[in-house]
Amino acid sequence: MIIKHIKINHLLLISILTLIVFISSSIIFFYSHKNNSTIPVNSDNENDYIKWVDFTVPCNVLKLTADLDINSHNNNEEVKLNWIELLAYLACIYGGNFKSFNSNDLDKLVENLKSGKTMEDLTSTLTFYDYYLESYSAILSGFIGDYSIEVLDSNNNKVFENKYGLKAFLPIAKNYYFTHYKDFGNSRSYGFKRTHLGNDLMGSIGTPIIAVESGIVEQLGWNQYGGWRVGIRSFDGKRYYYYAHLRKDHPYVESLEKGDTIKAGDVIGYLGMTGYSVKENVNNINVSHLHFGMQLIFDESQVDSPNEIWIDVYEIIEFLKSNSSEVYISNEETKDYSRKYDFMENFLTE
Ligand SMILES: [Zn+2]
Repeated sequence: MIIKHIKINHLLLISILTLIVFISSSIIFFYSHKNNSTIPVNSDNENDYIKWVDFTVPCNVLKLTADLDINSHNNNEEVKLNWIELLAYLACIYGGNFKSFNSNDLDKLVENLKSGKTMEDLTSTLTFYDYYLESYSAILSGFIGDYSIEVLDSNNNKVFENKYGLKAFLPIAKNYYFTHYKDFGNSRSYGFKRTHLGNDLMGSIGTPIIAVESGIVEQLGWNQYGGWRVGIRSFDGKRYYYYAHLRKDHPYVESLEKGDTIKAGDVIGYLGMTGYSVKENVNNINVSHLHFGMQLIFDESQVDSPNEIWIDVYEIIEFLKSNSSEVYISNEETKDYSRKYDFMENFLTE
């Protein structure tokens, strides 16, 4: 009896052990393949462009790194810092999840760079640095740089001033109230079941809507979901800005057309509640708001496909609150608004 019992227990133990080994290897297999599919590794293959980006950088980290970049340029420091490189480095050490952000890591990186180490030295063992650098460049490369903007001189005359700094604007005009919350990925029920691929900025109907970045108007007109909408592509082609649910009857600033060049900070249209209808010019949205979205394009095949990459822009909106465009009624007849202070950046003159 005892021998029989031991035999049975022995068999049971072997079975359990085999099962454990099988389950754990399946888990390892699943996760290793999952990671491979979300983070593409560079190769010479033409089709090997970036297929997916999760943007989780919080506003306070955007601000810290932006200030380091801007101050190092404006103080003409010996070592110029690049906020996108700083962010890509941090993303590597946190595995893309900024919940683990610790300002000591950023301080240490800056200290290393200032002591003469190069980003190349510091990232030589970080496998995903190139991936994060390319992803974050696609998102943020139009945000900080050289620009000229009108300011008032001592006699209250407008004069252009050359600057280096944040040159992307909040999509809501200066002095207009709005609220928003983290709504990226929430489910939406109109039409087919789908997720929310942007951030809703709740405000009053008629609030002037501002172009975040300079670019070319690529889409304009009615869209079943977005209602009256504008799509603007950045000059480098990497970002497509989507502004939707614009005002019934008077959605756009006068004479706005497809193909127009838009400057960062220009008025492009007005907040409304149009959309969710195949019929044009219908208010079918319950709460007046701007739907603001940013799509990333690494390859033109991603523009209009099931593989579109839309990122969470909530933290970007928070970050852009520090730079909003002041507007005034420039046409009493049409009640259209214009920006108060003109703006120029290099590629606009080329
Ligand atoms: Zn929305």
